Amino acid sequence: METADVAVIGAGIAGLSVAAELARHVTVIVVEMEATPAHHATGRSAALYIPTYGPPTVRRLTAASAAFFRSANEGRSPTPLVSPRSVMYVADEPHHSHLLAFAAGHGRAGGSLELIDGPASRARCAALRSDWVVAAGVDHDALDIDVAATVATYRSALAERGGRLRTSHRVTALDRSVGGWEISTTGGPISAGTVVDAAGAWVDRVAGLAGIRPLGFRPKRRTLAIGPVAAGSDPGDHFVAHADMHFYFGAEHGDLMFSPADETPTEPADARPEEIDVAIAIDRINDATTLGLRSVRQAWAGLRTFSPDGDLVLGPDPADPTFVWCAGQGGYGIHTSPAAALATARLALGEPLPAALVDVGLTAGDLLPSRLATNAGW
Ligand SMILES: Cc1cc2nc3c(=O)[nH]c(=O)nc-3n(C[C@H](O)[C@H](O)[C@H](O)COP(=O)(O)OP(=O)(O)OC[C@H]3O[C@@H](n4cnc5c(N)ncnc54)[C@H](O)[C@@H]3O)c2cc1C
Repeated sequence: METADVAVIGAGIAGLSVAAELARHVTVIVVEMEATPAHHATGRSAALYIPTYGPPTVRRLTAASAAFFRSANEGRSPTPLVSPRSVMYVADEPHHSHLLAFAAGHGRAGGSLELIDGPASRARCAALRSDWVVAAGVDHDALDIDVAATVATYRSALAERGGRLRTSHRVTALDRSVGGWEISTTGGPISAGTVVDAAGAWVDRVAGLAGIRPLGFRPKRRTLAIGPVAAGSDPGDHFVAHADMHFYFGAEHGDLMFSPADETPTEPADARPEEIDVAIAIDRINDATTLGLRSVRQAWAGLRTFSPDGDLVLGPDPADPTFVWCAGQGGYGIHTSPAAALATARLALGEPLPAALVDVGLTAGDLLPSRLATNAGW
């Protein structure tokens, strides 16, 4: 039987990043049910780093992750992990007040969003209709992330530190023993002192296998598609998102990548796109722009999984500290992964958060699952 100090369940970006971090200190094995890592949410994202996206704790984790991406993991990656890509939140008249409130919230939190009027918005994205756009807010610090290179970086760090990755190993049972956990998988048994649950949409199912109380995570389907724009139409260089998230789009190798920003609650599964969601995105974007979307070359969907309070859940379960959550990455799991991995690893090892996380205003209480027990009145 294979043994390790820690078994991480799930080889998405959450599991691989926390495993790479833990492997600095302890022996680690990552257990993944699919034949390849990053098969589910991680391989299906819009691949953006957006400092202004998400609730305050998410934004702090995002800020604390910038150094990793900008330094290409201290030069470990042979290619840059990020490249500049401003995000422009655009508003029509009914959503103008929403944009102003959003910008004011960022101002109070010390962030910045440059507010511009309709003509200035069209100067950045000429395809926006003059009778639709009234204002926009520009996040100049957003970035495009090379997700494949980021995943490869975490994998190579894991391997360099002696960590193991076992694919096609679905965890089917988790039994608490005196020294830790006996883990039954479709690839054979594994024993580990601590289990990290980084199973994405399946985190509550994995907790259930371990006899740990599920926390109420909600997977929500989101659809992305790529299609051609009308001849002569130019989406510009910005990533454009509706101020109240009715759609988003951005140029992608001469085509347009776009989404209706759907959030359809669903069971954990290999998510597939629905034609209706693609059609809704095309309608909304054609209403707001002259991009003239008519067809798609490719469409896909993935699950964004949210905790009951919308923030990530990182660290030991209050009922059993050998069961560690790394969950609820929602729509931010790529750009929060460096800081979330660091926090999960430190909390799993019973250590305080490091200065890099404390300096952006994070506390262990913001992250630990015990906050949900309190909120739910357990
Ligand atoms: C359309 C879309 C756009 C997005 N855009 C962005 C973006 O621009 N920026 C951003 O930061 N985030 C974005 N996200 C969110 C981001 O993709 C996720 O937050 C992140 O990928 C979650 O990573 P994960 O490792 O938790 O989950 P996953 O990648 O789903 O990994 C979980 C893994 O656990 C494995 N697993 C589950 N159960 C078991 C079991 N019993 N045994 C073994 N293995 C198991 C699964 O096979 C899976 O590989 C987007 C998501 C979607 C769907």
